[in-house]
Amino acid sequence: MQSPIATERLLATTDHIIRSQQNLSDRQQPWIHPRLIQSVDPIKGRQLRVSQPVRKGELLLVDLPYALIPVVDHPEQSEDIRCSNPACHRRVARTVERVSCPTRCSADVVWCNQSCREADTLRHGFECTWLKKYATSIRSKWGEYDFGMLWLIVRILASRHVEFHNTPSSDKTGPGDVNPSSFETGWNAIRSFCGSQDTWAHSQVRHWAVLVKKYLGSSSSLPHGMTSSEVLDLICQEEANSFGLYPRETGAFPLPEPAVDRGEQFGAGVYPTAALANHSCSPNIIHKPDNQSRMVFVASKDIATGEECCISYFDLSSKVELQDRREHLQGSFRFVCKCDRCVSEEPPEEEVQWDEFPSMEGF
Ligand SMILES: [Zn+2]
Ligand SMILES: [Zn+2]
Ligand SMILES: [Zn+2]
Repeated sequence: MQSPIATERLLATTDHIIRSQQNLSDRQQPWIHPRLIQSVDPIKGRQLRVSQPVRKGELLLVDLPYALIPVVDHPEQSEDIRCSNPACHRRVARTVERVSCPTRCSADVVWCNQSCREADTLRHGFECTWLKKYATSIRSKWGEYDFGMLWLIVRILASRHVEFHNTPSSDKTGPGDVNPSSFETGWNAIRSFCGSQDTWAHSQVRHWAVLVKKYLGSSSSLPHGMTSSEVLDLICQEEANSFGLYPRETGAFPLPEPAVDRGEQFGAGVYPTAALANHSCSPNIIHKPDNQSRMVFVASKDIATGEECCISYFDLSSKVELQDRREHLQGSFRFVCKCDRCVSEEPPEEEVQWDEFPSMEGF
């Protein structure tokens, strides 16, 4: 019997594999391959590994977003916008009767139908006043990137609000109570993301601090009860761990011939388990959101016992040269990539040049 990858283009694999797993449709819990484990590397920090061999083409992870925002230019015309209800998050086609918020808080907030809107009342109620008050002014004053970042933070806080509402004692579980080999979930997982104010350039952190002060303080329109410093820490974590959502797979390597890009971004989200994956420029996992906006990991190579499982943090077809890849990762993710591919492509004299960046030690 041939593996799915042998008969289908790599680009079709995550859809193909998720379709064949009927028991995964509508599942409201992450699905984690029994051989996928997390461990801690002294230099890289937390990481994903396999405890026993995994074959190329095997499904490794289907992770639900803790929070997700649409990223589309014209929500009224977009075919890529997703239902705001976290239990659904399906694409809402332009042709169907979309349901909008009665307060018209934002054109980006839509549901498939009335029952999705009603199921999302508690969560959307948390963000609705904030959106109505600030969405237009943030966009015109600070631009789409900052608006998207702030809205994703608000949606993380909204999910936390729903989580505490449903299980009021969950915040009492400290990190010490968690089994290190098991995967944390919910707000506890978000709180344990890597990234801090020291990760980012001072000018960047100062800019975020201004935005927090102006738009994310705890108030009657955003009752989260956290301090400004805690919210700033959350931004530093979110920026280091969030995923862009694209219609096609990220991470196919060697690059398919002809190379195919991953398409236009339509969303951004935070995924508690998927965020544990480190980057490689020749990853052994491809990833893509499925039709319910769940992040799907599939092994793109055979993976040996104990081997680390890595994804690519960017579209490998868009940055091919070593220098382009390193500049991008340094600028957007704050580390110098030392993956096998990068090390093998280093010219001999470059080893001396990297000593010019002593502040990057430890990454
Ligand atoms: Zn829906
Ligand atoms: Zn609303
Ligand atoms: Zn690399």
